[in-house]
Amino acid sequence: MDISYILNDLNDAQRQAVAVDDQHALILAGAGSGKTRVLVHRIAWLTEVIGLSAYNIMAVTFTNKASNEMRGRIDSLIGQKALGLTMGTFHGIAYRLLRQHYQEAKLPQNFQILDSDDQKRVIKRLLKGMELDEAQWPHRQVQAFINGEKEEGRRPQHIDIGHNPFVGKMVQIYSAYEEQCKRSGLVDFAELLLRAHELWLKNPQVLAHYQARYKHILVDEFQDTNSLQYAWLRVLAGGSGKLFVVGDDDQSIYGWRGAKVENIRQFGDDFANVQMVCLEQNYRSTNTILKAANALISNNTSRMGKQLWSDGEDGAPIRIYEAFNEMDEANYVCNQIKNWCGQGGARNEVAVLYRSNAQSRIMEQALLQAQIPYRVYGGLRFYDRAEIKDVLSYLRLLANRDDDAAFERAYNHPPRGIGQKTADGIRMLAREQQISMWQAAQQAVEHGLTARAKTAVASFLDLIESIAESAQNQDLQDQVMQVISRSGLQAHFDKDTSEQGQGRLENIDELINAVSQFKVAKPQESMSGVESEESANLENQQASFESPEQLKDGTLNEVNEFADPLSEFLAQAALEAGEQQASEWESSVQLMTLHAAKGLEFPLVFMIGVEEGLFPSQRSVDEGGKLEEERRLAYVGITRAEKQLIITFANRRRMHGSEFYPMQSRFIKEIPAEYVDFVRLSGSVRPTTESSMDSSIQKALAAQNQTGYQIGDRVFHAKFGEGMVLSVQGSGEHASVNINFDEVGSKWLVMAYAKLEQR
Ligand code: ATP
Ligand code: MG
Repeated sequence: MDISYILNDLNDAQRQAVAVDDQHALILAGAGSGKTRVLVHRIAWLTEVIGLSAYNIMAVTFTNKASNEMRGRIDSLIGQKALGLTMGTFHGIAYRLLRQHYQEAKLPQNFQILDSDDQKRVIKRLLKGMELDEAQWPHRQVQAFINGEKEEGRRPQHIDIGHNPFVGKMVQIYSAYEEQCKRSGLVDFAELLLRAHELWLKNPQVLAHYQARYKHILVDEFQDTNSLQYAWLRVLAGGSGKLFVVGDDDQSIYGWRGAKVENIRQFGDDFANVQMVCLEQNYRSTNTILKAANALISNNTSRMGKQLWSDGEDGAPIRIYEAFNEMDEANYVCNQIKNWCGQGGARNEVAVLYRSNAQSRIMEQALLQAQIPYRVYGGLRFYDRAEIKDVLSYLRLLANRDDDAAFERAYNHPPRGIGQKTADGIRMLAREQQISMWQAAQQAVEHGLTARAKTAVASFLDLIESIAESAQNQDLQDQVMQVISRSGLQAHFDKDTSEQGQGRLENIDELINAVSQFKVAKPQESMSGVESEESANLENQQASFESPEQLKDGTLNEVNEFADPLSEFLAQAALEAGEQQASEWESSVQLMTLHAAKGLEFPLVFMIGVEEGLFPSQRSVDEGGKLEEERRLAYVGITRAEKQLIITFANRRRMHGSEFYPMQSRFIKEIPAEYVDFVRLSGSVRPTTESSMDSSIQKALAAQNQTGYQIGDRVFHAKFGEGMVLSVQGSGEHASVNINFDEVGSKWLVMAYAKLEQR
């Protein structure tokens, strides 16, 4: 058997990792060293060389996007043999598991996912119902408490209150929240994981089935698993399953969300006979970028310690641009992108990374003006947009009348005459009787409402029932279109002729697109004999499976054919919120937070707003102990770049409505000067008066004098004709100059070859 296609494109250490014996493995390695590649090739090794069915393999990734990319790579490596593979994020896999075993998990069959925005609403209402003062019990804090406890695997009854009245109250709210979710058939993100974990612990026969099934479990980005995820893995692996985890302690950036980098250290203690493999060669970045990253991260004290090297070229120095203000910064980035594309680069090779989402707006504005197509990845997420959530709330009510969060959003939107007072009455009834809003509304219609309110509420209930009835014979797309028009949302948005209103309608059209592209996967037909035999045995043991077919086809792998398409679509919408579709990923500049960039790579990377107070964030500086995580985030950012890294900071920045004069980030100073080229002024924002020229600009101008050119100089080039110098950077043979030519527009030229004549 020729397996060179599995091993050829790997180095020795990577090969060793791919071919480890039937034992646990921990691949600990720095950024860009091929961890994800090794994981993919390991799956190929298991199916091709060991002869394992993909049905017996689970691969866990960090985002849906990473999962889709990985599936593509596996399919192209092993084709049909990848059928039956279970792959997804922790949340996605937990969701599929709970759908399949809703009875054992004590969930209603049509349970819905509560995303964090809806969770916030539920908590807010709950606090109001409990008559707790928002100032004293901020909903954010409550939300963080509940999620934090769940991530540690604790239910209210597990929490030690001691003599702490604060914790006591929090636990009381947590309990009330749990009851509320139960009544409404809602499951939040942390609950997905906790339920899936409890499913193992409380249902030995279910656990035994999956323990027998998953002989190999592979986990990417292991450094960012939290306690609960790790516990879930440990239980699943049980006695015989083999874990293959890859990670990098220097890239642990989700500590604030409960991730435990210690899990890496713990792994060796928790499992016997772990094969450790370290990968040290980096294939992604130039030597310059790599050395800068190494130097920066060496400032962290709590590290497992490793160095990356590359036999690639040194590449261009890291460019650091000191901008006049945030507008100048954004314009500089746009000019550099144009320049990149002018030299044959593609837009989708470019990423602009920032610390906080709010930074994207100015950048977006500049890109729009410069007519550079871009996408915000993980910013204002499609499924988070108000109008999309409006439509989804109706759909959710169709799927589950007891979904209180959906009821709250839909009942009077668009306005249909159900007033605050009426709604409060329904809420109170629901609380008193421990029933859902829907049921309470039904009761209220029967007795206890004024005539007007009664008509309004009854017609809302009728509307939903009547949409549901005609939806029975419709495909998903028609259902959605029906909801949009019959709910009155369409007419409501039509009325708004502003730019924003039009944007809403476009988004709704986009939702219809998304629905039409949504396919419920068919169960796989061709499976090897191994699992049929296994499932045949299990058929007898487990009466609670909905259908024995499910075991044969291993529906955990893909969307479940037996759940209704609407529920599946809603689940996907909740799970994928914030992650772009692959097709939308093409040929536009990518804007995203540094967190969202994990695992990705781009030829040209910008890190913007690298200033004290912004990055590292003020909070991380004030609170102490958080700085190292910020530095790891900087390390993640730097190591996304393949060829060129450009870092920018501004001398002035408007943020939250006021003006700041930030200092350049300590992270910039931690990059050794030998890898850096400082640029201090582009032609994009030039002070018009002497007085507005601040000292940094004067310094920059002075620095540029070394090249012999000044901003604003007229020059002549043999091919491009006459133009004006916009900016100069570097010195000596690296020096290049940006000229706005009268005929052909802006170009960057290397001074040594440009043969410019001064005019
Ligand atoms: P990160 O820590 O950022 O997730 P990683 O360790 O997962 O990085 P990969 O994304 O797997 O690294 O690999 C980085 C890049 O190097 C990819 O483009 C990959 O295809 C390439 N690469 C990895 N190993 C090799 C190799 N042996 N030969 C050539 N290219 C390789
Ligand atoms: Mg990776």
